[in-house]
Amino acid sequence: MPVRLAIPEVDAVGPFKRLSASQVNAYASCPRLWYYEKVRRFKMPQIPVLFVGRAVEEAFCRMLQESPALLVASAAADTLSNIPLDDSGVPSRESTSPWPADRLLPLPTHMWPNEMSALRTWAQERLAVHLPRALEAMETEWEKDERKAGEWSSVDPERCMKMCLNGLEMHLKEVERCMDAEGGPHLDDWRQGARPEWPSPDGRGYHLALRHPLAQQGPVTLLEAWEIARPWFVDPNAGKFAMNAIHPEHWFQGEYDLVYRWDGRINIVDLKASVGAGDRSGDYVEQLRMYAMLWWVTHDKKEQVDQLEIWYLGADAIKQIEVPTIPEMESMETELNALWQRLKGTIPAMDECPPSPAPMRGFSPGGVPSEAPTTSRCDRCDWNAICPGGKGDEDLPDGGSVHLPGTPTSFDLTPMAQLEPRMTLIAEVFSVMGGGEGKRPKIRVVQGSHFANIQLLVDAHQDGEPAWPQDIRKGDRVKLAGVVPSANYKGELQLKVDPHAIIVPAGENEDNDTSLLDFRARWNVAGKLVYRFEKKGVGRNGKAWHRKGMMLIDQTGSMKIEGWAADWGHQFDLAEVGDTLVAANISLDAWAVDVKGQINRNSKVQITERVVRGD
Ligand code: SF4
Repeated sequence: MPVRLAIPEVDAVGPFKRLSASQVNAYASCPRLWYYEKVRRFKMPQIPVLFVGRAVEEAFCRMLQESPALLVASAAADTLSNIPLDDSGVPSRESTSPWPADRLLPLPTHMWPNEMSALRTWAQERLAVHLPRALEAMETEWEKDERKAGEWSSVDPERCMKMCLNGLEMHLKEVERCMDAEGGPHLDDWRQGARPEWPSPDGRGYHLALRHPLAQQGPVTLLEAWEIARPWFVDPNAGKFAMNAIHPEHWFQGEYDLVYRWDGRINIVDLKASVGAGDRSGDYVEQLRMYAMLWWVTHDKKEQVDQLEIWYLGADAIKQIEVPTIPEMESMETELNALWQRLKGTIPAMDECPPSPAPMRGFSPGGVPSEAPTTSRCDRCDWNAICPGGKGDEDLPDGGSVHLPGTPTSFDLTPMAQLEPRMTLIAEVFSVMGGGEGKRPKIRVVQGSHFANIQLLVDAHQDGEPAWPQDIRKGDRVKLAGVVPSANYKGELQLKVDPHAIIVPAGENEDNDTSLLDFRARWNVAGKLVYRFEKKGVGRNGKAWHRKGMMLIDQTGSMKIEGWAADWGHQFDLAEVGDTLVAANISLDAWAVDVKGQINRNSKVQITERVVRGD
């Protein structure tokens, strides 16, 4: 099975603490790099090429999902989009809504392609329908990304189309093989309407009531081979990360790109919208070996993968990866579990993740091993300017106090790990308005003569408990655990409920001294500048908006600080990566484990130490 979902009753790990192949590879390339990106949550510059790969993959999978027996070449791109999904974004097994392919009457058979050239032309035209839309969606996403870098004009749609066409040719070879194999061992089952537990996405549900609506009689037809050879892939309409294969003990997960299985063998394919030259090609080999282990483990260690391939669409080349043996997979599982314990059990400190980059590996187009470059991994690392392995040092701010020019008093600085954006208190429910039928109520609480509005941003706590008692009513005494306080522009107190906060009935004898007045509105921090970011847009009211922000690191943590562009002083623009900055009088916000600072017009941002560069 290409998918193995988490079993909530026994999943003690949770979706955020699972190990993935990309994390393993990041750690192997440099433990400090892993630490910066996974613990400190630094986000690398988001260049267009990162988005192009997703667009190519999406266009390719949408084409694979379709059938020339149902859609003419010029059909709308979203003809098969409206599939029923469950709450987690997985194609629904329960829904009684019709599936989009079931609503389409097959085209007359004389319109079905019966030659490879006609099938190819149809598929090429479908790619021409899907790719521009996928690129446009990615451009919008890139535009909105606060870490966007580079220029979208560097994206060459023709090159993207060439990569899709290369992928198509690779897939058509499978269709041809399926024809040559007379449909393979499952032809009759397929014609009878049998479906695997996780069918290849084709706009139909998990079960067919009768024979397959496109089944023919006699020797396999080209159209049937197109349907049968279709690999499994994540339905392009499913939720993000919804269809992982998760280790039975829940500590590792992966999402396969394509799984071919029509001939009874399992071939896992990783799609790469690149030529495959350069160091990262080494990561892809390791990734596929981990996937082979994951397949084996998620099949009770009774079924192995037969083939592993990387399709380098930019080089029009397929790279075969040697399938690991059972002893190799056994030791891989043991090693990965030990790594998971080390990285996810208790979060390692920065000095436990040394700046020790692995040597660079050499690959030429198609992922062919070649001589390794003589450059160091640090030379092109995004964190070179602040990392001791690059041009930075370990000397990071750690609280204390500071005197800023133009201010009469000094500011006490809080180390980032000690910032406390949450509070837990007991209060009385003053009013409950609305709610029910899937809507969140408006709740107001009172403590003595002080009021606060509850901002419910989620329906459930991360543990799955409802975020508030469903029968909550005026006069109830409730515990507000881990809520995030803030003051709105009118000075009213708000208590935000995110996945880490919950409202529960307070026990009869339960007490808590925390008062609404204990809310601390202003904080001061100091850190080294890791990067700046900004976002612009136009609001629903037609007004342009512009926000800016920065990522700071200190000895104990890191945080984003953001605010309206007009509230940042000129010191923000003058700062260079590696400079030490103080942000005084900022407020705090939080979402799950992320703590964020907010600049407002009373805040002060000051460079207190300039980075010294040796070159
Ligand atoms: S600069 Fe070098 S040592 Fe530092 S994170 Fe990057 S690769 Fe690792």
